[in-house]
Amino acid sequence: MKHIYDMLIIGGGPAGYTAALYASRAGLDTLIIEKMSAGGQMALTDIIDNYPGFDQGIDGFSLGMQMQAGAERFGAKTEYGEVLSVDLLPEIKKIITDSGEYFSRTVVIATGAAPRVLGVENEENLIGRGVHYCAHCDGRFYKNKTVMVVGGGNSAVSDALYLSRLAKKVYLVHRRDTLRATKIYHDPLMKAENVEFIWDSAVVELLADGRLNGVKVKNLKTEEEREVSLDGLFISIGRKPVTELFGNALALDEAGYIIADETTKTNISGVYAVGDVRTKALRQVITAASDGAVAAHFAEEYCNLIQK
Ligand code: NAP
Repeated sequence: MKHIYDMLIIGGGPAGYTAALYASRAGLDTLIIEKMSAGGQMALTDIIDNYPGFDQGIDGFSLGMQMQAGAERFGAKTEYGEVLSVDLLPEIKKIITDSGEYFSRTVVIATGAAPRVLGVENEENLIGRGVHYCAHCDGRFYKNKTVMVVGGGNSAVSDALYLSRLAKKVYLVHRRDTLRATKIYHDPLMKAENVEFIWDSAVVELLADGRLNGVKVKNLKTEEEREVSLDGLFISIGRKPVTELFGNALALDEAGYIIADETTKTNISGVYAVGDVRTKALRQVITAASDGAVAAHFAEEYCNLIQK
């Protein structure tokens, strides 16, 4: 006979493991399916010092392991594998992974959002060694140093402003000659004396000697290339929600995020979206964890309702 879980969570980041903690502690039979290891994007962060309770901060990998252990203490189970397809519409939902089939009354989607990469050679090898995707996470390592931000949207501009208060010099490289970012950011950025714009340009090569020490920037209009010496590069060209598997059934916004409000409820009964994968204003560990708790609350209510 097939086993039917009360809650199946796809993705073992802070949102997923908090949902697991709350659900298993409330007595729900809970399974997390995780592709790699606990923590998600958070596990790639050197130091998290804006998650309360850690007076010295904590590295993302350790926090992920602790969140997993905390949920497993109450009986939540983790299966490692990749989800290949989902059938979310029936009352008993079916998830197929590369290691088997799973059934559950509720599904919590906690697949997160991954930063878009530039796609230049060596980018992946230099992550954490001069190449970063989150200024608010890693900017503090660049006090009085020279950094570059790539992008022209709200994130890039807010990253550049944030870094301009820490670093000695900030270059902002954008592939066009106008920012996409909302006007409110333009003035303070233009006024920041240590910010230099490099318009119509792209980073085409990373220069490194063990760690990043510069980049080659190409002007896309003149094709002229020049080298810029740097201590750090912050790539801020948007994020990509991991929702490819769900688009047919779940309502997504134009950027691909699952439409769900603070209740985390999606357009399908018994399916919740938590953390960075859902439409929301602030994507942080604490707001992801908060979503997990809220989803477990509504999932428990839903399970009670359908089992009556
Ligand atoms: P975004 O608005 O999609 O902007 C991405 C930027 O990166 C654009 O300027 C884009 O250039 C550039 N870009 C994209 N692919 C590139 C590539 N391969 N190479 C070089 N440049 C590339 O993304 P975001 O800035 O991360 O913002 C995401 C969402 O969060 C937005 O809705 C934004 O408004 C919101 N947000 C809001 C705030 C705030 O209001 N405080 C702060 C942060 C984010 P083009 O302009 O040429 O397309």
